[in-house]
Amino acid sequence: MAGKPFRVIIVGAGTGGLCLAQGLRSRNVDVDVFERDATKTERLQGYRLSIDQTGRRSLEACLPQSRLERLVAQSARPSEGVTFLDHRLNRLLAIDFHPGHPRASNGSDRDMPVGRAALRRMLLEGLDDVVHFGKTFERFEERPDGTVAAHFADGSVATGDVLVGADGASSRVRRQLLPDAQRVDTGIVAVSGKRAMNDSVRATTPAAILRGPTLILGPHGRFLFAGAVEYDHNHGNVEDETAPADRDEYVMWGFSTRREAFALPRDRETPEAGASKDAVVALMSGWHPGLLRLVRQSDDSTLTSFRVQTSVPIDPWPTRRVTLLGDALHNMTPFRGIGANTALRDAAALHRALVAVSGGASDLLPALAAYERAMIDYGFRAVRASLREMHRVHSTNPLARGFTKTVFRVVDRIPPLQGPFLSA
Ligand SMILES: Cc1cc2nc3c(=O)[nH]c(=O)nc-3n(C[C@H](O)[C@H](O)[C@H](O)COP(=O)(O)OP(=O)(O)OC[C@H]3O[C@@H](n4cnc5c(N)ncnc54)[C@H](O)[C@@H]3O)c2cc1C
Repeated sequence: MAGKPFRVIIVGAGTGGLCLAQGLRSRNVDVDVFERDATKTERLQGYRLSIDQTGRRSLEACLPQSRLERLVAQSARPSEGVTFLDHRLNRLLAIDFHPGHPRASNGSDRDMPVGRAALRRMLLEGLDDVVHFGKTFERFEERPDGTVAAHFADGSVATGDVLVGADGASSRVRRQLLPDAQRVDTGIVAVSGKRAMNDSVRATTPAAILRGPTLILGPHGRFLFAGAVEYDHNHGNVEDETAPADRDEYVMWGFSTRREAFALPRDRETPEAGASKDAVVALMSGWHPGLLRLVRQSDDSTLTSFRVQTSVPIDPWPTRRVTLLGDALHNMTPFRGIGANTALRDAAALHRALVAVSGGASDLLPALAAYERAMIDYGFRAVRASLREMHRVHSTNPLARGFTKTVFRVVDRIPPLQGPFLSA
């Protein structure tokens, strides 16, 4: 099959789809990406993604080294540690990324905090002739000649040898390919917000939050996540290349608990934006004033609320010329912060498989089947891990909560347990 023109169609120009397109482009594989957004910057609110070692290796596999170096240089200041506290700010567990720790700021495993907009901008570079905006995918059709056609809402059709659904958690490609695959409600509702950083915010924010991700276990199954995004300002000309919106400095928080606790009207699934701050403050009665202040003084325009949903793991299916990547299959709760990293891992794996097919080293269906088997395994392991974490931090059972806190305190006192604890 060497020399045979081979064309890949990707639906969705998100984290995973663009990383795959970059990898294929760099190996001269014919690829086109179709994205429903009308422009590069539509709907791009900045939230921070923490790229871990898996994500970084995957980016390395698909992006030119110089671009990755720029992304590293533009990333926010890395965390100095991870802290677990109770709602009165009593320490349960603090893991320091001290110098020499693999996750220290210069360590080999350091996390790379990047704005979603900055990452997308970087992943779009050099793909102007490949990414087609304003193309909402509607359905695919497998043709007798062995090609796949993608149909879009504007009536246009694109044809290729393989179609990759990288169209996120509400994937239409998945709905057609795997109509029985489910995405279900977890019963948890989350509200998040940001407070723009300045000297007074820095002085009044609990110290742990300024050092890195801080996970706060409140009573009655209430949970708060908080972290700060700040940049080093001594990075030569990096700032010149970066859109100002990519370098917003802020403290972000996300409060979550069971939906019933919010006492919502029957016709609402999440608190209304205007009422969400008051709803959260009411549920934080008795919490430390520093945490209440963070929520009360956050900027109203940054408040969002959402139902936490998760995919239900499924077994491998008979492989076709249509496959999936990232949230389109294994969408997960945000409680481990690994959704984007897993989407990037898929992109790197699928890139390897499709390059081998394009070069004649593998046949398409066996290569896709091997990709799918591995991806279903690690992808749904990540889904289960994030769901376990969600249950752990929202448990309303006093015994279970007491047990969790005891585990944290034990790990706090025994440093050799801390590495395995973070990666469990
Ligand atoms: C607040 C928040 C914080 C997060 N933090 C982290 C973190 O720290 N670390 C981490 O690893 N993950 C994090 N995640 C999860 C992460 O953002 C997702 O898992 C990741 O973006 C999934 O990538 P993807 O490529 O599969 O999908 P997406 O990035 O969602 O991309 C899907 C793309 O498909 C397009 N699309 C959808 N439907 C269609 C259609 N019909 N036709 C054409 N195009 C379509 C969409 O417009 C979008 O561009 C976070 C998520 C949230 C909400």
